[in-house]
Amino acid sequence: MIKIQVELCIGCGRCAESCPRQAMSIVDGLAQINQRLCNQCRLCLELCPRDAIVEIAPVSKEELALTFGSLKQSAHDLIERIEKLKQRSHFKKENINELS
Ligand code: SF4
Ligand code: SF4
Repeated sequence: MIKIQVELCIGCGRCAESCPRQAMSIVDGLAQINQRLCNQCRLCLELCPRDAIVEIAPVSKEELALTFGSLKQSAHDLIERIEKLKQRSHFKKENINELS
């Protein structure tokens, strides 16, 4: 999917002039894209002087859920390891105190 980073757009109109599908227009000084007309040809990406146009890969809900699940698991494993390290360090301190 083609997206416009409006904070970078200067409204020069190059994208609108060059779009073969008339999917780009300038509204209130900023480029606006009609996703229904865009065929992802990427021509506007090459022409934008501000690199304000980017292509983003749509991510499915399943992919998102999978990534989130694996991140959650990694965070859980990390917390577990930290807890074990804490316990080990506490145990060592107690032993040192007993010996001295
Ligand atoms: S070419 Fe780039 S800077 Fe110019 S109007 Fe289009 S998006 Fe904005
Ligand atoms: S990717 Fe192609 S069709 Fe889509 S807005 Fe840009 S120039 Fe137009």
